[in-house]
Amino acid sequence: MKEITLAPLPYADDALAPTISAKTISFHYGKHHAGYVKTLNGLIAGTKYEGLSLDAIVAASRDAGDTAIFNNAAQIWNHDFYWRSLAPAGKGGEPSAELLAAINASFGSLDACKAALADAAVKRFGSGWAWLLQKDGRLVVESTSNAETPCGQAGVKPLLVIDVWEHAYYLDWQNQRAAYVKAVVDGHLNWSFASGNLA
Ligand code: MN
Repeated sequence: MKEITLAPLPYADDALAPTISAKTISFHYGKHHAGYVKTLNGLIAGTKYEGLSLDAIVAASRDAGDTAIFNNAAQIWNHDFYWRSLAPAGKGGEPSAELLAAINASFGSLDACKAALADAAVKRFGSGWAWLLQKDGRLVVESTSNAETPCGQAGVKPLLVIDVWEHAYYLDWQNQRAAYVKAVVDGHLNWSFASGNLA
């Protein structure tokens, strides 16, 4: 059968340290993310989902209300997007001229955009994700709960995401989610990736 695979990390496991340590990566990527892949492949074996792309599984399981399959597929999609949303310190580039114009039109400045993203990440109650999205022609910041994802939603183009599940930061920052978020927003967002995602 055609299985869903664990996408390779786009950098070494210590490339985001000390904000995100190699130990965190070993659990977050090596156990949590890999675990969603293993679980999903088990759940879809022999079903109508087997052989579909990950995006198609997210969409079809959402429509069908197949919650366990949706949760695992969406978490794989979100984590793939999260690893690519981050970059080693100094390697994230700058927003393209087009992205910067969209940021300025929607938030007033890049600093205001970063502040809005950090605020959404800190305020998300419980587990979830904070997103910079292109939505109906404008840029917006939103957060989603648990596995919920903008993947496949009409008119929505994700640009960046921050994981705020405790497993993303607890080994390095314990209960200090705001400090983790600040370190990510100030030093590790991949603006080159975000620029490439702009529709
Ligand atoms: Mn995670």
